[in-house]
Amino acid sequence: MPRKSPWHSVKEDVHHDNTECNTGNNIEAENLRQGTGNKPLCRECADLGAAGR
Ligand SMILES: [Zn+2]
Repeated sequence: MPRKSPWHSVKEDVHHDNTECNTGNNIEAENLRQGTGNKPLCRECADLGAAGR
């Protein structure tokens, strides 16, 4: 399962924790920050996690 420490975009209201997440992978470097940013987990990451990916 490709997991890594959470990251988020300053442009979004969610954080990501799954490397398969398209939204998470499309964050531009200038907007990318480490950590959850105290934001909820992205829906796509949650679905991937629930599917065991
Ligand atoms: Zn995500």
